[in-house]
Amino acid sequence: MSTPYDWLDRALASIHKANWYRSTQTVSSKAATTAIVDGREMLMFASNNYLGLAGDRRLIDAAIAATEIYGTGATGSRLVSGHLALHGQLETAIADLKNTEAALVFSSGYLANLGTIAAIAGARDLILGDEYNHSCLKKGSLLSGATAIDYRHLDLTDLTAKLQENRAKYRRCLIITDSVFSMDGDLASLREIMDLAQTHDCMVLVDEAHGTGVFGDRGGGLTQALGIQQDLIQVGTLSKALGSLGGYVAGSAKLIDYLRNRAATWIYTTALSPADTGAAIAAIEIIRTEPQLRDRLWQNVEFFKQGLQNLGIQAIADDSPILAIEVGDIPQTLQVAANLRKNGIFAPAIRPPTVPTPRIRITLMASHTQAQIQFLLQCLQAV
Ligand SMILES: *Cc1c(COP(=O)(O)O)cnc(C)c1O
Repeated sequence: MSTPYDWLDRALASIHKANWYRSTQTVSSKAATTAIVDGREMLMFASNNYLGLAGDRRLIDAAIAATEIYGTGATGSRLVSGHLALHGQLETAIADLKNTEAALVFSSGYLANLGTIAAIAGARDLILGDEYNHSCLKKGSLLSGATAIDYRHLDLTDLTAKLQENRAKYRRCLIITDSVFSMDGDLASLREIMDLAQTHDCMVLVDEAHGTGVFGDRGGGLTQALGIQQDLIQVGTLSKALGSLGGYVAGSAKLIDYLRNRAATWIYTTALSPADTGAAIAAIEIIRTEPQLRDRLWQNVEFFKQGLQNLGIQAIADDSPILAIEVGDIPQTLQVAANLRKNGIFAPAIRPPTVPTPRIRITLMASHTQAQIQFLLQCLQAV
């Protein structure tokens, strides 16, 4: 007997055949530099917990305190019953961190990008995006109904050519880019992009998911580190360096006011939980007042880069705490990841369709010790 779901078997078989099949590994410990993964203690080199805040006592206490005051759920969407005083505090803290007039928190970074892009661009508009942009920037462009064209990764000449060729045919134009590319760890040329946007009358949306808390003297992101003053739309997440869950948009008061009225992924979803909100407020306070955490993270990046250099290993880029190392085709990369795992190191193979070329992706944290990084280097050499 055939059923309407038989196609699932065929679809899964073709995922396996392409070597694209992925599955979860179960973590059963608190976020730290070591983790119990599938029952075994491993050194964690795959976490976005850049500053170690996800396991920080102060965030845990803030989450508990917020839960005690407000309960476990926000109980409704922001425009109905779910707008808590705590959300206002968090939005003020984000705007202050980012040095913008206002900010708006969403339930995730993914939703922040989907909702914002779909709200600010439409069928008569053009979106130009870096080809390696995160999935949510690409899906947001699709959802908007705008004409979305990719330019070659970090290639300003290609972006310029595409602006010259297409800009005049559309009403509004939006340039979108990750600030720190999540799978390669390289950085967008934001200053040059801002200049191009000015010349061609374009809006700019920068996704600071991996920049916030990591770059900038106050932890405001790559935009802050580069001293960019022009008006732009900054999107990011509370779930990486900030150790919580949720997303945000920071920008002009006008933009935020408009999004509160037009961003469907903000309007029609339940507000962020009190625990996540409280933890994020505590994280921003730490990020602003403890630059030594960021210093320690960058010292670890330097130490690891030096070690890689001594081994003659070249990362795709070495400008951020994300260091990706190409070691061959998909089966070879999976083998290296498996060998690292045997040595107790959690550093996964990232492969198509997530990225065009397979690689081992290593992320460093402020809380890693030099001994832990040294051990990683030894294992990399051995495998
Ligand atoms: C992780 C990530 C997101 C999504 O953020 P979540 O809060 O996890 O949904 C968006 N953009 C980039 C570049 C990311 O790396």
